[in-house]
Amino acid sequence: MNIVDRLADLAQIGATAAGIDRALFTPAEHAARERFAAWARADGFAVEQDRAGNVFVRLAGREALPPIQCGSHLDTVKDGGAYDGAYGVIGGLEALRLIAARAERPLHPIEVVAWAGEEGSRFPVGTLGSSVYAGITPYATAAALVADDGESFADAFAGPAGKLTGVPVRDDFPPPAAYVELHIEQGPVMERSGARLGIVTAIAGQRRFSVRISGTAGHAGTIPMAMRSDALAAAADLVLAVEAAGRAHPDSVATVGRLVVEPNQTNIVPGAVSLRIDVRSVDDARIDAMQHAITAATERIGAARRVHVALEVLESRRAAPMSPVLRAVIGTVCNALDPNAMALASGAGHDAMCLAQIVPSAMIFVPSIRGESHVGTERTAPADLELGVEALAAALLAVDRDPSLTHSVV
Ligand SMILES: [Zn+2]
Repeated sequence: MNIVDRLADLAQIGATAAGIDRALFTPAEHAARERFAAWARADGFAVEQDRAGNVFVRLAGREALPPIQCGSHLDTVKDGGAYDGAYGVIGGLEALRLIAARAERPLHPIEVVAWAGEEGSRFPVGTLGSSVYAGITPYATAAALVADDGESFADAFAGPAGKLTGVPVRDDFPPPAAYVELHIEQGPVMERSGARLGIVTAIAGQRRFSVRISGTAGHAGTIPMAMRSDALAAAADLVLAVEAAGRAHPDSVATVGRLVVEPNQTNIVPGAVSLRIDVRSVDDARIDAMQHAITAATERIGAARRVHVALEVLESRRAAPMSPVLRAVIGTVCNALDPNAMALASGAGHDAMCLAQIVPSAMIFVPSIRGESHVGTERTAPADLELGVEALAAALLAVDRDPSLTHSVV
């Protein structure tokens, strides 16, 4: 089976009416990992796993060196697509096959890793497997996490939808020499510019806020306009201030994607609004600047509209610049395969964020048709899927051949 057929086959596992449902350590997600392990064994590669649920597939190298790694994830969001994550894992396996078919073995072992629980769709933390592997999240912290349904991570891994059967479990995998992740873009930028290969410059940092606006509920007919403390009108001002903060900074986005109005009745002046703000940029200083602008807006709006505005930081992740050395290597490879190859930032988070904290890391993107992702209609043209695999194999070999690359600092 080629990459297109394998991805189509994998897409059957966890298929729903609207897309694919493969949350970590559910029967569907387990079956996807089993399928990946079976294909890898049939292709002649060694398969191992760690107790965080990560699956490691290895092509042996000629020398005793740390591996050069690629990978991504097999879990999905609810009603997700067939390519987000799965492309980097199955495409990585395909790249391993291309490299193994060559006359000469690589110097380094080459690994493809299926990282566990990237989406955070069952346990409350994203990029969980790669975060444990990189030492960012201690294993004990991950093991104690509890899913929406009450099962702990450690129990779920030990249960029937956890570890793979007949695959050794180790927890002493050494860090790789370098990490290259293949992924779909999940946005419309490459398609619009005609690029078939993308060289990722940085993965955006992300900060999330929870805001509670408290005004005064009242009769929509009897409270004069001048005497109102309308929480929703204040929220409207804040939504526009958030949009303005995003527009004011290059390579940055700011979104209010969730808003709950109380009591949400046609004939009542809204008394309270809860909303969530998501701010991202490739530059942490711009995230700070957007936060500053949003905080100032809450104070201004609160005073002008006589409402109380409480803002709380829910989550903060730093931007992850990709390794300049690896970017240059990948740039050479991608430009040779696609005259329209482009450099771009990733607004979405990826396992490469975690790997970038310990080893030189980089990413290769292929375009998403209409920019659609995290939906069942997520697509990439088959020729682009194949070109991305070719680029990944060439990039892994280029890293393998140049010893200076695998000893460079992050
Ligand atoms: Zn992904």
